[in-house]
Amino acid sequence: MTLEKRDLYRFPWSKNDNPIAWLEVTDICNLHCEGCYRQRLTGHKPLEEVKEEILFFKRWRNPDNVSIAGGEPLVHPQIVDIVAFIAENGIKPIVLTNAVKLTPEFLRELKQAGLAGFTFHIDSHQGRPDWQGKNEAEHNELREYYADMVAAEGGLITIFNSTVYPSTFREIPDVVRWGRAHIDKVHGLVFITYRILETEVAASVDATGQEVDASRLSYSTERFDEQFVTSPEVYGIIKDHFPEYEPSGYLGGTVRHDSYKWLIGAMIGSRDRMYGSVGAKTMEMAQAGHHFFCGTYLAYLSQIKVAPLVFLMAPWDRTVRQAAKNWLSDLFRHPGRLFGGVRMQTIGIIQAPDIQAGGQADMCDSCPDMTVWNGTLINSCRMDEYRLFGGMLSVAERARAQSEPESAVPEEASEPEPQPEPMMVEEGG
Ligand code: SF4
Repeated sequence: MTLEKRDLYRFPWSKNDNPIAWLEVTDICNLHCEGCYRQRLTGHKPLEEVKEEILFFKRWRNPDNVSIAGGEPLVHPQIVDIVAFIAENGIKPIVLTNAVKLTPEFLRELKQAGLAGFTFHIDSHQGRPDWQGKNEAEHNELREYYADMVAAEGGLITIFNSTVYPSTFREIPDVVRWGRAHIDKVHGLVFITYRILETEVAASVDATGQEVDASRLSYSTERFDEQFVTSPEVYGIIKDHFPEYEPSGYLGGTVRHDSYKWLIGAMIGSRDRMYGSVGAKTMEMAQAGHHFFCGTYLAYLSQIKVAPLVFLMAPWDRTVRQAAKNWLSDLFRHPGRLFGGVRMQTIGIIQAPDIQAGGQADMCDSCPDMTVWNGTLINSCRMDEYRLFGGMLSVAERARAQSEPESAVPEEASEPEPQPEPMMVEEGG
């Protein structure tokens, strides 16, 4: 169960040709997620400024979708106009939301404006008033509430994000199990490994070489005495519980050759059972084909009921071949399932930036979540460094005062890879 980059497809995304554009419409939020990397400094962006950013993305990013993030985008008073403007420009608008403000009526209004889908950020570290003390499995009830709401409206993509903390690592299978049971209305799951900057062990300096007060960043703490979870560990625990899961594509790090910053897989199955996953060849065909026919790379599948079409890739993709065999033998035993449909569900794993011993940050290579700041594209996870200190900070490690803590991840469930010292943040809307 070792990950091998040569078995995976390296997404061909780049700064100027990337399926995702990350639009932040506000820095105001109605929750306080533990891993949030945005703080309130400027409030809602005026609609005209937002429109300019959308046109900037269209010109310089060639996106398939715009991820409308924040802050919490649904609190922006002109969110419906923003969605409509993105759709009018031929790009899929996807709202990244904690869903607190979402009602069926609001959802319909957004859909009528051209919304393509939602990425819901729901996990147990968001300080939701009625969900205190509940674990990830218990939060599945909340996930299901919103999955049902979107399914009732129909025609929208539904993805669920959660941040993975050392304390919730072991609960990942509970979320995957829930997602599989609702493959008919859940298009994908994303697990984002929590990071935070430790000011006690890292001195941060700005572009002039001056040390700055990094405690002003929401993604800093004096000291974090746990071991951060890595992408290979998340892969390991999912694979342990669901052997048919295989990632098929990845993005590496900007510094390290062996990091897995984005690890994406797509499982094939039905409500009754999972048949397997797509392999690297199918992922390559999906990306290249979408670019050839539509002019952009692909980030979101707008149709999960792919029928047996995906099995046409079996001659070239041994992972799909195995899934096709499982499907056929299942049909042999249960012919009625032929009419139940074959669906796909993606699982994404994201490992945020890690600081190396020399102070460089290992970022996601070809960062898909670049946003606009002062007329240029920057990594959205570092934007508060630009807003507070005028640019990305460099980090010099201070000596650790005490010995390293024990790993939060049980040895038998992990697939340890050589990993750097961690730095920061989660993604989310
Ligand atoms: S914004 Fe940061 S965490 Fe997100 S994809 Fe880019 S580098 Fe990775």
